[in-house]
Amino acid sequence: MKNLDQRNQIIEYSLKLNSTNLSPLRSGNISLRGTEDDIEGYLITPSGKKYETLKPEDIVFMGLNEDEKNDQTNKPSSEWRFHRDIYTNKKEANAIVHAHSPHATAVSSHGKPIPPFHYMIALAGGDDIKCADYATFGTEQLSKNVIRALENRSACLMSNHGQVAFGKNLEDAFELAQEIENICHQYTIALKLGQPKILSFKEMKKVLDKAKNYKKG
Ligand code: 13P
Ligand code: ZN
Repeated sequence: MKNLDQRNQIIEYSLKLNSTNLSPLRSGNISLRGTEDDIEGYLITPSGKKYETLKPEDIVFMGLNEDEKNDQTNKPSSEWRFHRDIYTNKKEANAIVHAHSPHATAVSSHGKPIPPFHYMIALAGGDDIKCADYATFGTEQLSKNVIRALENRSACLMSNHGQVAFGKNLEDAFELAQEIENICHQYTIALKLGQPKILSFKEMKKVLDKAKNYKKG
């Protein structure tokens, strides 16, 4: 089977979506940039399947110029449009994780960016984490909103829906999605205590400069 290793990796991380409580049951989706028969595209989880039942042949390859496949048993994730658009717009993206993680989803229902109440906000690439405007799942409009919220960022919330994160590989994209969930958990607690103190633009600039050399494996 073509791209067997990548298909297995997607299944491994899909199971982790459930086991780490990042996304329950069949919610969320995962993709990896790849090629098949010299066509540039991405491999993506199928729509509506429970992760625990996934087999390598269930993972769908989509070309970057390809529209929804109707000719096969497994339809790609309903969110293939924003996966495609992230790969097209972000050359550094090789893997994408979309999750309905509990705290990120709760915070997303406020439809507002997360301000720098903690310096780890910098992990998404800037001094806040944007929230994509609401649009129905699986639509071009949702994809447009996600791309806008990802400007100069590698993760964002999706209003009344969840979060999405990308990385240079699946390990990084998944870890970033976990970090976003942690940040949203902390933010939820902070908001219960009143309005948190927000770090200054100057301080966040310092953090962003330092963060470039932070990750050591
Ligand atoms: P799919 O099963 O189609 O990927 O849908 C899950 C989801 O999270 C939609 O936003
Ligand atoms: Zn979703």
